[in-house]
Amino acid sequence: MDAQEIQTAVARQAAVAAEAAPFVNQRDPARVLGLDGRPAVSRRAPIWQDVPDEKWNDWRWQLSNRVNDLEEIEQILELTDEERAGLAAPDKFRVDITPYFISLIDPKNPDDPIRRQVIPLGREQAAFTGMMEDSLAEDRHSPVPGLVHRYPDRVLMLVTTQCASYCRYCTRSRIVGDPTLNFNRKEHEAQLDYLRRTPQVRDVLISGGDGLTLAPKLFESILRGLREIPHIEIIRIGSRVPVFLPQRIDDQLCEMLQQYHPLWINLHFNHPNEITPEVSRAVDKLTRAGLPVGNQSVLLAGVNDCVHIQRSLVHKLVENRIRPYYLYQCDLVEGSGHFRTPVGKGLEIMEGLRGHTSGYAIPTYVIDAPGGGGKIPVMPNYLISYSDHKVVLRNYEGYITTYEEPPTYQQHDRAACSYCQNERSEPGQSGVLGLLEGERMWIEPKGFSEIHTRGNTEAHRLQDPAKWIPFGVGAIEGSAGAPLRVIESGPVAGSGEERPAPTGEPAPAYGPGEEPRPREGEPTASAHGELL
Ligand SMILES: *Cc1c(COP(=O)(O)O)cnc(C)c1O
Ligand code: SF4
Repeated sequence: MDAQEIQTAVARQAAVAAEAAPFVNQRDPARVLGLDGRPAVSRRAPIWQDVPDEKWNDWRWQLSNRVNDLEEIEQILELTDEERAGLAAPDKFRVDITPYFISLIDPKNPDDPIRRQVIPLGREQAAFTGMMEDSLAEDRHSPVPGLVHRYPDRVLMLVTTQCASYCRYCTRSRIVGDPTLNFNRKEHEAQLDYLRRTPQVRDVLISGGDGLTLAPKLFESILRGLREIPHIEIIRIGSRVPVFLPQRIDDQLCEMLQQYHPLWINLHFNHPNEITPEVSRAVDKLTRAGLPVGNQSVLLAGVNDCVHIQRSLVHKLVENRIRPYYLYQCDLVEGSGHFRTPVGKGLEIMEGLRGHTSGYAIPTYVIDAPGGGGKIPVMPNYLISYSDHKVVLRNYEGYITTYEEPPTYQQHDRAACSYCQNERSEPGQSGVLGLLEGERMWIEPKGFSEIHTRGNTEAHRLQDPAKWIPFGVGAIEGSAGAPLRVIESGPVAGSGEERPAPTGEPAPAYGPGEEPRPREGEPTASAHGELL
């Protein structure tokens, strides 16, 4: 053989080998293999080490082996005194955790983000300003039990009060977890009946509790009942079952679901640790059954109040073809006091996403209006005012609501956060005023103090009123008679730039406290509109 022949033979062999070995997509999280060459699996707590795989992977086994009492949980996690107090509290919101989910917790780390979502602390019993039992006034907007008709064209249909596990900050803790307050066929029939006679409803959101914990036949009968109503266009399911109990998303369930399209599903992940190989396979099945999958997160102090954790979460979500939908400000609901963050924290997170990552990976940051006005995006056109402890917003109808900021907030500990320590560098793109350093909660003009206690903004305003020339609406206390500063044309100090010379008429001067409104003969905004 000469060199040419050898080369040809090698090339031929390589081509044959390439054809024989099927292409393996190493990037697809639903196809990830473990060290043993079999589909990857998550850690199991030692007490379940001997449970056969068939049982462990059976959702019925997972549901019937949930843990809920102190002694049991103590065998799995090293509990702190405050967790013991939380678990021993007599009137606490229900505790129940699937073996799969509690196994994801680091037993030695009291700050584990999954642990904080499902293990109660003594302090969840503490009341706070603005706290409500039904903070979204759902009961007041229910024409029939369990059906919340708040928006013109869509309803929230609560089909059960039961969940696969229970989140400490649950917005519906007034009913969720309580089997005596459950909804049954009678309520489902009344809900369907209301929908049959309410033709403006085109979108039904099935939630609870969690509809996917219902007996499959019962859940299917609800879907069928809805699909028999001609004016209902889309049905969506809000579920945390794929997070707590991914085993439930089996082929049988997906085959059933895909008969009821158009069907959408929103899941509820709060932290990247919740996205396991089991979850990736479950979500893969849902997407293959044709359901677009979304995610709703809640912004929770001590769980995900960090730009880097949130960025990692949304990246893992889109890798799994899950579209981040909403990031919720924590509701003013009983039990959630210690989870609350200032609204500035959410803005900081949004600031760290937009531009820094794919638009697909960015949720809409919303506050669910206290008192029941629906979800309001935290965006300028909805934000009426934002002082240092109250956020005033309006909804799509003009309904005005106030969100009371938490009086205390334990800042995220960057030094202890592996996501902050291993952040991906963005050379030359540090973001606005170091907001992305994760230490700031407020967007304040440059040169303000590094101390971020509440009330600081006010202190600075008083110290240096020249920084806060009000824009002329109403009289400012203590300013009556003081001349308003007029911005001169000419070079801007230090910038080296020339301001453009004023054109036409000189700007009219206004007296103290006078509103800058057009006077006799001056063009008005509406006249301007006509000219356009
Ligand atoms: C969240 C919610 C909806 C759905 O709102 P979207 O913004 O359309 O996702 C509908 N009804 C109620 C009562 C809700 O809380
Ligand atoms: S899954 Fe939803 S309804 Fe159930 S406890 Fe958690 S937040 Fe509440």
